[in-house]
Amino acid sequence: MGILSCEVIIIMQLIFDSKTTPKQYYQCGYEYSFPKPHTCLHPDCKIPVPPRPHGYYIRNVITLGFNGRILIRRYYCKYCGHTFSYLPSFCLPYFQYSLVTIFLALLWHYLNLIPLLKVLTSRLQWQRQHLQFYRRRFKANLKFIKAVLRQMMPQVILPKEDDIKKEARKVLIIVKTGFGQIQAFSTRFFTQSNNTFMASRKLA
Ligand SMILES: [Zn+2]
Repeated sequence: MGILSCEVIIIMQLIFDSKTTPKQYYQCGYEYSFPKPHTCLHPDCKIPVPPRPHGYYIRNVITLGFNGRILIRRYYCKYCGHTFSYLPSFCLPYFQYSLVTIFLALLWHYLNLIPLLKVLTSRLQWQRQHLQFYRRRFKANLKFIKAVLRQMMPQVILPKEDDIKKEARKVLIIVKTGFGQIQAFSTRFFTQSNNTFMASRKLA
C-alpha cells in the first residue's frame, strides 16, 4: 500500500476510540491495529460488506510531549464509491493540535485557571490567535453541542443562553464531569451527531 499525502478528493473522516497516546500510535506505525469496519461507514450506504483498506495518508499531530506525523488508515467502499479515513480519537478533524490540548485550553480559560492556561500556551508556543480561534469556534457551536448533549444525556440540566461565558463554562463542566476522558466525549459526540463538537458549522 502506498502513502498518499495529498488529497484532492473529499474524504469522509471518522473517529475511532484509539486508547493510545499520539506517541504510542506514532511508534506503532504500519503495525498499529487499525480498525476493521464490518460495514460501509457512509451514513447513506451502510452496506454490510467490509470496505477495503485503501492506503494511508499522513497528518500532523501536536500535543504535549509529542509533535509528529502519523499514519491515517483509509478505506474504500466499492458499492457507494466513498473513501473514508479513521482518525484516532486524540485527533480532531482539521485541527493539528490534539483534542486534549484544545479542550484544556477551553476549560482552563472558562474556569479562569489562567496560570495553567499560560503554561499550556507557552509549551505549545501558541499565539493569542490560537486561543481566540478555539473560543470563537466553541461559542459558535454551543447551541449544537447542547442539542447533542441533550440526546446523549436526556436528564442533563443545560445552561440557559443569558450569558455566553457562563453557558460555555457550564457546558465544559458537564463534559468534564459527565464523560471523564475528553476522548470518550469526543468519540461519542461524533457517533451521535456525525460531526465533532469543534467542527465548522458552515461545513455541516
Ligand atoms: Zn458504501
